Amino acid sequence: MTTIPRRKTSFHICKCGYPTSNLTSWTKQHPRRRFQACQFYEQDTDSRGCDFFKWVDIEMTEWQKDVTNSLMADVNMQKIELRMLKMELADVKGEKGCLELENQALKHQLTVMKKHGLMLPAFYCILVFVVVVVILFRYF
Ligand SMILES: [Zn+2]
Repeated sequence: MTTIPRRKTSFHICKCGYPTSNLTSWTKQHPRRRFQACQFYEQDTDSRGCDFFKWVDIEMTEWQKDVTNSLMADVNMQKIELRMLKMELADVKGEKGCLELENQALKHQLTVMKKHGLMLPAFYCILVFVVVVVILFRYF
């Protein structure tokens, strides 16, 4: 095994002959604790390649782990809240788009009514007035 210095941290060449990966553990037992492992290490499948594994950070005290886990729980809650707010925002944007379309349709309808529609009720009012006046003069 060869150790090669890299900036602040160093990395190793594992038994597979490749440089090790720098990873971070987010388990409750080792929250935010960095480690190096064979680059064929996969957390999801628990496949460990050549089994090379080395902690980079020293282990936290129980109190530090509790605080870190608590803060991570808060971060996760905020991520969920953010996701919900983004969905709510998308709904509001969709609703805004519908209202803008409805607003345009109403403006167009108002323009048409101003051009033609409003003249018709005025015409009917005058016609009724004339009929009433004619009836009044005829019978009284
Ligand atoms: Zn390896």
